[in-house]
Amino acid sequence: MSQPPAYKRVLLKVSGEALMGGREYGLDNATCRRIAEDVRGVIDLGVQVCMVIGGGNIFRGIAGAASGMDRAQADSMGMLATVMNALAMQSALEKQGISTRVQSAIPMSSVCEPFIRRRAERHMEKGRVVIFAAGTGNPFFTTDTAAALRAAEMGCDALLKGTQVDGVYAADPRKNPDAERYVTLTYLDMLSRDLAVMDAAAISLARENHLPIIVFNIHEPGAFTAVMKGEGKFTTVI
Ligand code: UDP
Repeated sequence: MSQPPAYKRVLLKVSGEALMGGREYGLDNATCRRIAEDVRGVIDLGVQVCMVIGGGNIFRGIAGAASGMDRAQADSMGMLATVMNALAMQSALEKQGISTRVQSAIPMSSVCEPFIRRRAERHMEKGRVVIFAAGTGNPFFTTDTAAALRAAEMGCDALLKGTQVDGVYAADPRKNPDAERYVTLTYLDMLSRDLAVMDAAAISLARENHLPIIVFNIHEPGAFTAVMKGEGKFTTVI
């Protein structure tokens, strides 16, 4: 008999970029569907899943600021972009027969629920996937930090960071095929080596809350399920 998964509740962070698939901008429906199928696989293992979706496929505050916009204003636009992605992900999950709720850190009550931690907890206990939108609700933060924050608030056992490659490498494996993939890393390794996987605020928050970060390839079908079973390729940051 196979082992039950080691995790009861996890948060999956998906960047906006991951939802673009092969496109230059915006959303690719087939990619959203495939990610939703992977979430379905993990739910079928009996793991509770919540999600944070980025917005970089639509708008990043830092790019807006670089073009002369006020940074806080531009970041508000970035946070709104994450709400659009969260709604797209909600549709994709519902097509898989998964019950979901979107909770936004910026209240917009005619579109989704506001973020209420206890309510989110209840949804998860009922087996619903809660998608946390609008990041932390504050400018000058990223959705990686929002992911670490929500994972800590929800008492998740791990933060899963779906990226373009199957873990954390010493150098970009797409440019350097001989680059070494780390199996495990410490939070301090991540911070001191400045490995461009998550920002320092997110890593520090995870470290303070003893929240393992698991980095895996979001584009590999079935990888999320495999990681939950301890199979396949990934990097664990503890
Ligand atoms: N953002 C923000 N506060 C947050 C989270 C996000 O202001 O707590 C804004 C910020 O402008 C950011 C944008 O939302 O550039 C999209 O988020 P992010 O860049 O983290 O998305 P990803 O890179 O994961 O697609």
